[in-house]
Amino acid sequence: MARHTESVCKICRNEGKKLFLKGDRCNSAKCSQTKRPYGSGQHGQNRKKLSEYAIHLREKQKCRFSYLVSEKQFSRYFKIAAGKTGVTGTVLLQLLESRFDSVVAKAGFTAGRKQSRQLIRHRHFMINGRIVDIPSYRLKAGDKISVKKGSEELIKTIIDSLTPIEGVNWLEYDKTALKITVKSLPEREDIDPTVKEQLIVEYYSK
Ligand code: SF4
Repeated sequence: MARHTESVCKICRNEGKKLFLKGDRCNSAKCSQTKRPYGSGQHGQNRKKLSEYAIHLREKQKCRFSYLVSEKQFSRYFKIAAGKTGVTGTVLLQLLESRFDSVVAKAGFTAGRKQSRQLIRHRHFMINGRIVDIPSYRLKAGDKISVKKGSEELIKTIIDSLTPIEGVNWLEYDKTALKITVKSLPEREDIDPTVKEQLIVEYYSK
């Protein structure tokens, strides 16, 4: 993804939604979107009513930012989703949710997708016994994630620093053995209910 030089909290504030880009801080009272739930900057509290196009665009951008993918990658995901059987919006979210960086964060092994991405790139995780350093790697049912030998202490320290997460139905994880198994692809109800994927589909259908 193109690097954001602005604070990631500004992205949340400008999108009007918590995108959970800063790990545990996002669930605390320190979250900028909780403290100041309006756009950033001088005119942040005086935003105009959005056009229909802008509503579609904003929904796409919120989703893209929360998975930290570039415009090009996101549009590629949409094309893949549109070519598959099933509801395009749901398939799109399944593709995003089953990315390697997203799964590691979802299992509570890192403080969010941003940290997952960094640790994956630094070769701390393996898939099915082999080091994979590609955050966008798409996982499928049956894939097993583990921690590389020598990286156990680092990952355990991160896990211990995080608030334990609620069960995630489609993943099986063992924080002592440091293993994650993808039991199945997520169903729509396993994915953030606040995402309005139909608006994203409409954005690309123009
Ligand atoms: Fe967004 Fe997290 Fe910053 Fe809150 S703390 S504004 S959820 S990145």
